[in-house]
Amino acid sequence: MNKLLVLAMASCFVASSLKGQGTYDQLREKMVEEQLESRDIEQESLLEAMRKVPRHLFIPEEYLPWAYTDRALPIADGQTITQPYVVAYMTQVLQVGPEDKVLEIGTGSGYQAAILGELAREVYTIEIVESLGLEARKRLSNMGYENIEVIIGDGYNGLPAQAPFDAIMVTAGAEELPQPLIDQLADGGRMIIPVGPHGGVRQLTLVTRKNGELKSEKLMAVRFVPFIRQ
Ligand code: SAH
Repeated sequence: MNKLLVLAMASCFVASSLKGQGTYDQLREKMVEEQLESRDIEQESLLEAMRKVPRHLFIPEEYLPWAYTDRALPIADGQTITQPYVVAYMTQVLQVGPEDKVLEIGTGSGYQAAILGELAREVYTIEIVESLGLEARKRLSNMGYENIEVIIGDGYNGLPAQAPFDAIMVTAGAEELPQPLIDQLADGGRMIIPVGPHGGVRQLTLVTRKNGELKSEKLMAVRFVPFIRQ
């Protein structure tokens, strides 16, 4: 009888602690509600993508408990996976739709590329750190993303062979707007890039081209790892 009681208490404890932590699906739903919908993320297809992509599969094991928290996390090589809200914000600004061809500079873990891959027709993503690029390529392919291509190299020059792009996202902080990327923006295209001095706060900058005319607009102060040149 006593043994049974102890067993029952123990299983109650296990059940409640599991419930407290929640499954990854529940944590992801909570992330979407509390970090995205409660702020200004309202593009339905984007919220769907953020609900679907398993962010915990993109981060190192030791940071798993923080996979769905409101912050950036370290990945390998001193780089970071961007905070979920900033991923969603930058993506929403680009208004990516199912016909779009997208270029990302700074693959990192591949998480942002996966979100873009859920929304766009094709995604090209360039990573300068070879080990990160190879790992992201394998991860995205294992997850079945056939519309995402990971390229290893310096993204400064973009990808002229695939240009023009409907949307370009740079996920490393640049000191100025890279001219080759501007040149590869389609008419009607949108580019989002953090611009500002290294080590300081940068401005998320939206660059658009419409009827041949370029416009640039500062949207929000952010911190990003630096854009590296080879
Ligand atoms: N988008 C990533 C986060 C990227 S962190 C994610 O979802 O996880 C910025 C990344 O940009 C780093 O991996 C860094 O190595 C890469 N990077 C920096 N300079 C670059 C350059 N010139 N070309 C391509 N990638 C670059």
